Amino acid sequence: MELWYTEKQTEYVGMTCKAKGTLMRKRSQYQDIAVIDTEQFGRMLLLDGIVQTTVADEFVYHEMIAHVPLNAHPHPRKVAVIGGGDGGTIREIVKHDTVEKAVLLEIDSEVIETSRRYLPEIACGLDDERVEILIADGIAHIRESKNTYDVIIIDSTDPVGPAVGLFTPEFYGSVYEALKDDGIMVAQTESPYYEPERVRQTYLGVNAHFPITKLYLAYIPSYSSGLWSFTIGAKRHDPAVINRERPQPLTTRYYNVDVHKAAFGLPEFVRELVQP
Ligand code: SAM
Repeated sequence: MELWYTEKQTEYVGMTCKAKGTLMRKRSQYQDIAVIDTEQFGRMLLLDGIVQTTVADEFVYHEMIAHVPLNAHPHPRKVAVIGGGDGGTIREIVKHDTVEKAVLLEIDSEVIETSRRYLPEIACGLDDERVEILIADGIAHIRESKNTYDVIIIDSTDPVGPAVGLFTPEFYGSVYEALKDDGIMVAQTESPYYEPERVRQTYLGVNAHFPITKLYLAYIPSYSSGLWSFTIGAKRHDPAVINRERPQPLTTRYYNVDVHKAAFGLPEFVRELVQP
């Protein structure tokens, strides 16, 4: 008997992977959590049936959400990640020597426990001594933080359940206040091909607060349409520019200096979404 897993990505399109089996599945207070083992992507973390990360292609997402803002900032010392319970973004952040503290604000402790147990190659950075893990709603924490962080990374689930509030203009206003006066924020903002209106609205929400707002793209095979967007807001430094005298050499598989610059080059249909 063959096992196949399908994530329904739109009303009419699904991604189907041949599976070796289900390694775990449980219902937490917030969501349905599962890890399946697939032939093409290896182990895959699913939340409410949606692919969050896979062992095979996680490097693209995690490197691009972390190294673009961290290399655009001249001296990132204190960084917050909202969501990100799998640990992949933290693993990339702690590659930067300038970082003194990385705070992970994850609402669901069971995502962290699952990742530690089933995805150790992704969760490994969580044990770095500079990392502080807070099991909390990122919205409330950011609202209470003022002038605190150099970089804030919103590594959230899609805008459903507790993540809905992470995609609102009010939240981006709180992020602005929580950043220092040369701070930078970035959020994962879905597929511009399947979700153009969401990409546009998020861009406008960030742009309502940040003087410099840009979109950049990466190719992530397991995410819907493969073409993924990140919206970045900066108070002072152009995020398309590497604002380091000498960028620190990083061990990466997708990100490099050329990719940093090229990611901001937008195809016409995406550029039109973020035109005033
Ligand atoms: N890379 C992923 C993607 O784009 O699909 C996101 C991965 S990470 C697992 C997303 C995490 O955001 C989940 O573990 C979820 O529990 C967390 N999350 C959702 N809403 C949150 C909130 N308001 N505060 C903190 N964490 C939240």
